Amino acid sequence: MIALFGGTFNPIHNGHIALAREVAAAFNLKQVDILPSYQSVHRAQPMVSTRMREQMVKLAISPYSELKLNTLELERAGPSYAIDTLKQIKQQSARQTVCWLMGVDAFNGFLNWKDAPGILQLAHLIVCTRPGSHIDHSIFRRHQLSPQQSLEQYPAGKIAFFRMQPNDCSSTRIRHQLKSPAERLSATVTGCLAKPVLEFIQQHKLYET
Ligand code: ATP
Repeated sequence: MIALFGGTFNPIHNGHIALAREVAAAFNLKQVDILPSYQSVHRAQPMVSTRMREQMVKLAISPYSELKLNTLELERAGPSYAIDTLKQIKQQSARQTVCWLMGVDAFNGFLNWKDAPGILQLAHLIVCTRPGSHIDHSIFRRHQLSPQQSLEQYPAGKIAFFRMQPNDCSSTRIRHQLKSPAERLSATVTGCLAKPVLEFIQQHKLYET
């Protein structure tokens, strides 16, 4: 099973790491690929370069052997549509089952993703709870996994909801606080960023303007 966790990771924070690690443990996955987007299509383009975001991902995941950086979208460049990424992955490993990980807030916008039905033909979705976001159960209702079913029984097309430990880290909030000198070392910033990521941000004066 291949597990892909896409995001802007601007910057990567402890909520991302917790999501990937908790899903790996709960679904018995040997590896979760952290897949930074080159150009996010559902969010404003980050001011921080792709290389800097990639570097921060490397620093954040280095303690965890089950997490791997996947540079496919960074190398492809252009808009990072999940459907294009999945087609590329399937070309390389046609028989592997693929799971696409996301938080509920991302899932609630899933109908706006390019070729959402096509995505479900190629992959399962594992959708993780996030404080402040409620699951929209009307989205692809027929695809949602019932308690009697498991992802392994299907090659693709199922949506599993996973209740993770509530984690209220958010990249937007972190960026917002890093902008303000008074909040730059707030509990949110220090509690949500891995120490080497925070040091990298300070060293390169990221998110200060
Ligand atoms: P923003 O604060 O701008 O919304 P973000 O923190 O959601 O950013 P992204 O890189 O956009 O960061 O998120 C990548 C994925 O991680 C998305 O699917 C998002 O739902 C999920 N995610 C991020 N933070 C959490 C969290 N604290 N709990 C659960 N899921 C999360």
